[in-house]
Amino acid sequence: MTVALEVRDLKYRYPDGTEALRGVTFSLEGSERVGLIGPNGAGKSTLLLHLNGLLPEESGKGEAAVFVDGMAAVGKHLPEVRRRVGLLFQDANDQLFCPTVFEDVAFGPMQLGLSEQAMRERVKEALEKVGMAGYEGRLPHHLSSGEKRRVCLAGVLACEPSILVLDEPTSSLDPKGRRELKELLRGIALPQLIATHDLELVVELCERVLVLDKGTIVAAGATVDVLNDEALMMRHGLERPHILRHMHPH
Ligand code: ADP
Ligand code: MG
Repeated sequence: MTVALEVRDLKYRYPDGTEALRGVTFSLEGSERVGLIGPNGAGKSTLLLHLNGLLPEESGKGEAAVFVDGMAAVGKHLPEVRRRVGLLFQDANDQLFCPTVFEDVAFGPMQLGLSEQAMRERVKEALEKVGMAGYEGRLPHHLSSGEKRRVCLAGVLACEPSILVLDEPTSSLDPKGRRELKELLRGIALPQLIATHDLELVVELCERVLVLDKGTIVAAGATVDVLNDEALMMRHGLERPHILRHMHPH
């Protein structure tokens, strides 16, 4: 299996002194989907922002902590790392800022120096993939939460990433929107790291899960094994999901 993403002893402290990540190590291989769970404030979003080079590496150590397809996410590699790691923000409204759906989806590809024709092709394909063809001229802010999420995903896919990183992709979606998004993610053959409180999604989509609490990974393993460990789940502000009642650890 090829290692798509490797994180080695990643530490991060916000400028106000909050220690958000205290040495996080894990990797993502092949085209597996991995769930990232943990209570609010565990550091999930902070971790995901690092994967895309949106937060600076901890200064002082001089060693890279994030590697994408073997490339350190620092310095001259950053533009390529940002293209390869498709990040879906927790709040779709933070990701949509253009007057039309077309422009929002085209924003990423336009930074890649493609021809007009190639760029338009990418936008078209991406919108088709997420079931939003025909919405090109619509105002992103007038769409439903589920539609906004799918437009964001189209924008990410249009850059042809090698990894998808999603921050609470089903939050604020109704059951139908959740179902549609889960099916979409299931159909995307890329390694995916999904931070979420939606344990049903984790059970249905992720073969492996990481539990993050207070900036460290406190457990990692096969989804059914980890989520079935009631004591572990309770210790970290989580709970054993009902959906597992009918499933057994192997
Ligand atoms: P999660 O996504 O798991 O809820 P976050 O990554 O958002 O966790 O937060 C991790 C920790 O970092 C929390 O203690 C949070 O309060 C803190 N934090 C998040 N963003 C900032 C920021 N911009 N400045 C200072 N502290 C922050
Ligand atoms: Mg978060």
